[in-house]
Amino acid sequence: MDQSPQHPKLTNPRLHGWSRTLRDWLFPPACALCHQESEPSTSHAGGSFCHDCRQQLHAASAWYCPRCGAVVGPYSATSEGCIHCRNDRLAMQHVWSIGNYEPPLSHAISRAKQGDLALIQGLTELLWEIHGPAMIAWQPDLVIPVPVQWIDRLTRSRIPTDELALLISQRLQAKLLLRALRKPRRTIPQHQLSGKERRKNIRLAHRAGWRTRFTSQRVLLVDDVLTTGSTANDCIRALQASGSGPVAVAVWGRGIGQQHTPLPQDEASSIPPI
Ligand SMILES: [Zn+2]
Ligand SMILES: [Zn+2]
Repeated sequence: MDQSPQHPKLTNPRLHGWSRTLRDWLFPPACALCHQESEPSTSHAGGSFCHDCRQQLHAASAWYCPRCGAVVGPYSATSEGCIHCRNDRLAMQHVWSIGNYEPPLSHAISRAKQGDLALIQGLTELLWEIHGPAMIAWQPDLVIPVPVQWIDRLTRSRIPTDELALLISQRLQAKLLLRALRKPRRTIPQHQLSGKERRKNIRLAHRAGWRTRFTSQRVLLVDDVLTTGSTANDCIRALQASGSGPVAVAVWGRGIGQQHTPLPQDEASSIPPI
């Protein structure tokens, strides 16, 4: 850790607050989703969203299934999973999500997947705001993103899941391993397939990195959306074959039932839902 003394200007809260006020006056903060000017006093999730968008992206009264991350009713039984995951084989201990993959969250995720940095940061801040304490309590040693194929890495200026993993690892102060997983085999975009076809399509598609060996560390796997869990399950198989400990998953959205059917803008996206 860097023990060098910090410059007083960077640590004086009054000066920091004053400079932030000046910056807000010169460049009024705009909502990352609707692009309307938002009042600093009413902005949330790191100032990324206006009050209305913040409310629509995440209702403060939301209840989550701890097993699959779906938003469920307040009286739903979730001790053995919820209605959305009870019959699914999920290899992770927990899933944390902002909410179900439906508008406006699905619109925001679709744009984040196309590289909109303000939304990548805003959605990740919101995910942290909701589930940060639970993620800290779970005590992950490593943060690892679901990988993209090397050809996609070459052709895109920004890999949203890498950015998500970076921001979460910084918040958790956990080690980030961007290349712990690889995806050597090309697969059909998962959103074009049924649940059974998805499992077959993605089976054995992921491998641990060439020199990756774990010693039972707890892993937080991050991805943009979890739908059937097939992709996460295959990544967990690869991680645990190389010696990792338990795995939990953090995603922006949880695709459930017909609600995860891609929207027109998802189809237009160069980055298909996983
Ligand atoms: Zn807004
Ligand atoms: Zn569930």
